[in-house]
Amino acid sequence: MKQINNFINGQFVTGSGEAYENRYPATDEVISIVNAADKDDVDAAVTAAKKALDGPWGRMSVAERIALLRKLADGIQARFDEFLEAEVRDTGKPVSIASHIDIPRGAANFNIFADQIAATGAETFEMATPDGNGALNYSVRLPQGVIGVICPWNLPLLLMTWKVAPALACGNTVVVKPSEETPSTATLLGEVMQSVGIPDGVYNVVHGFGPDSAGEFLTSHPDVDALTFTGETRTGEAIMQAASKGVRPVSLELGGKNPGVVFDDADLDQTLEGLARSCFVNTGQVCLGTERLYVQRGIFDQVVEGLADKAKSYAYGDPFNPDTTMGPLISRKHLQKVQGYYDKAISAGATLIAGGGAPDVKGFEDGYWIQPTVWTGLSEQDAVVTEEIFGPCTHITPFDTEEEAIHLANNSPYGLATSIWTTNLSRAHRVAGKIDVGISWVNCWFLRDLRTPFGGAKRSGIGREGGVHSLEFYTELRNICVKL
Ligand code: NDP
Repeated sequence: MKQINNFINGQFVTGSGEAYENRYPATDEVISIVNAADKDDVDAAVTAAKKALDGPWGRMSVAERIALLRKLADGIQARFDEFLEAEVRDTGKPVSIASHIDIPRGAANFNIFADQIAATGAETFEMATPDGNGALNYSVRLPQGVIGVICPWNLPLLLMTWKVAPALACGNTVVVKPSEETPSTATLLGEVMQSVGIPDGVYNVVHGFGPDSAGEFLTSHPDVDALTFTGETRTGEAIMQAASKGVRPVSLELGGKNPGVVFDDADLDQTLEGLARSCFVNTGQVCLGTERLYVQRGIFDQVVEGLADKAKSYAYGDPFNPDTTMGPLISRKHLQKVQGYYDKAISAGATLIAGGGAPDVKGFEDGYWIQPTVWTGLSEQDAVVTEEIFGPCTHITPFDTEEEAIHLANNSPYGLATSIWTTNLSRAHRVAGKIDVGISWVNCWFLRDLRTPFGGAKRSGIGREGGVHSLEFYTELRNICVKL
C-alpha cells in the first residue's frame, strides 16, 4: 500500500502520529496510508522552517527567488500526469476538471507571484525638516517569517499553492497542513521542491486532522508568525482564536452561501451555461458556488426548466474517463451531510425540480455519488436556503424588483461572491456595487485574473489575497526615516 509521508526539513519522514487510511471517493477503496505528524513532528517542521529563514533562503536575492518560483511552476508542469492522478485519486474529481483547473492553476500560481514580486516596489516620501535639509522616508517589505498554511480538500493543489507561492515569493518559509482527505499533491510538491533546489526547511508538510491534531499543533505553535487558512467559517473562528495568542496576523478565506441574481433581460443561453457551472461544477464543492438563485419573475419558469435540463445532462462515471463530467463527493461523511440537506428540503416542502438523490453509477456503486439538484418553493428562513451545503444544488426564488433582488441577495451572514446576469449595463454596475460580497461577477462566474483581490465580506473571511494584496499579508511593511 502506498504510504504518504510528512515532508520536514527537506526529508520525507513517517512521523509519529496515528496513521490513517485515504480513500478513493469514486470507489471507497483505500488508496494510501497517511502517516500523520504528532506534536513533536509539527514542532520539528516549525523549527526547520524557522532555521531556514537564517540559512541560504534568507540570504537569497529576490531575483534568485523568482528563478526558483519559475522552476517550481515548470516542475509541476513536467510532472503534470502524476499531479493529475494524485489529485483525481484523492478527490474523485473528473480529469476533465482537474486537468483544466487544478493542476494548471497550481503551476500558474508560482508564475503569477514571481511576476508580482518582480513588479512590486515600495513607497518613498520626502519631507521637510526645520533645519532645511529634509528627510527621506522609504518602506521595505520583509517576510513575516514562518507561515502556517491550512487548506481544504475541494481544490487541494490550487488553494495550497495560492498561499505557498506568494509566501515563498516574499521570502517566508511555510509549514502546510493539507486536509486529511487530500494529502497527496502537497506531498508530491515536496519532491518538486527538492528537485529544483529549494533549501531544506523552506517548504514543510505535516499530515493529520484539525482539532487536537496536526492542524491545532500548527496553529498553536508559538514560532509560527502568521496563519493563512481556507475552509469552513467555524474552523476559521478556531484559527482566529489561536492566532490571537501572540497577536499574529491571520488571513481567512471562509465559507459562503452565494446568491446568483438573474434579471429578465439576461441572455438566457449564456446565463444557463454560466449558472449550471456555478451550481454544479466540482460536484458543487466550490466555495464560490451558487446555492441561492434569485430570478426575475418574467424569466423564472424558463430558468427553472433550463437549469433542470442542465442538471440532468452530466455524465457520471470513471473520473479518469475524459468524458465524465460529474464526480462523487469527497467523502462518505460529506455525502451524508449533503443527502441530509436534500432530505430536509423535501420535508420542509420544497418542490423538487431535478435530482434529489444518489445516481446509480455502474462499476462505481460504492462511490459517494449525488445528483445535481434544483428546488423551488422554500422560505428564505429555511436551513437549505441559509446554510452552506457544499454540494451540487441550488434553490431558486422569484423576485419582481431590483431592490427586492438586492435585499434577498444580502439576506445572509455570508458575503463571499455573487453573479449577476443582465444585459442592462447600468443595472449591472448598480447591483454589483450593492451586494455585500468580496467578488461580484457580471455575466460570468469564476472568471479569475489572479492579480485581483480575492476574499470574502461578512462571515466569509478576513483579508484579501491575490496580486499585490497577497504581498500585504505575506510581508511586513516597515518604514525607514533618514534625516538628510
Ligand atoms: P474545514 O474547515 O473543515 O477544514 C479546512 C482545514 O482546516 C483542514 O485542513 C482541516 O483539517 C483543518 N482544521 C480543522 N479544524 C482545525 C483546527 N481546530 N485547527 C487547525 N486546523 C483545523 O474545511 P473543509 O476542508 O471541509 O473545506 C470546505 C470549506 O472550505 C467550505 O466551507 C468552503 O466554503 C471553504 N472554502 C472557502 C474558500 C474561500 O476562498 N473562501 C475556497 C474553498 C473552500 P482536516 O480536514 O484534516 O480535519
